[in-house]
Amino acid sequence: MLQDIRRAVSAVPDPELPMVSIADLGILREVTESDGTVTVVVTPTYSGCPAMDAIRDDVRTAAIAAGATEVVIRTVLSPPWTTDWLTDTAHRILAENGIAPPQPQAAPSGVPLALSIRCPQCGSLATEQSSQFGATACTALHRCRECLEPFTHMKAI
Ligand SMILES: [Zn+2]
Repeated sequence: MLQDIRRAVSAVPDPELPMVSIADLGILREVTESDGTVTVVVTPTYSGCPAMDAIRDDVRTAAIAAGATEVVIRTVLSPPWTTDWLTDTAHRILAENGIAPPQPQAAPSGVPLALSIRCPQCGSLATEQSSQFGATACTALHRCRECLEPFTHMKAI
């Protein structure tokens, strides 16, 4: 049963980026069960994203639909969530949806990266940020100088 609950909770979509599940975003930390109580541990993403209440409700609903009776949702703030927790699947789905995925925070050497954002449409690196604020607090609007298409970039944190 825990297997079913884990699968159902993992598939809960992110309210702001509904094409990606909370598991693939790295928000879902663990799902455990003890004495009939299912405990779901989540780590919120951007502090600017007012999505945690919705995620909590959706997680509870999914767990109960999969057979859980008691559901406890624990929010863990440490270590803080980072876009480095996104799975390869999340990167692929974001790109398929025209969203440039976040880049790694630092090279393995620890040197911060300052690479151009790659255009998800044509792959060009000749892009510029057109607005710091996209449709959500997590995204920024960019524009490709090659194909002239605007696109959304998920900010790295
Ligand atoms: Zn382009």
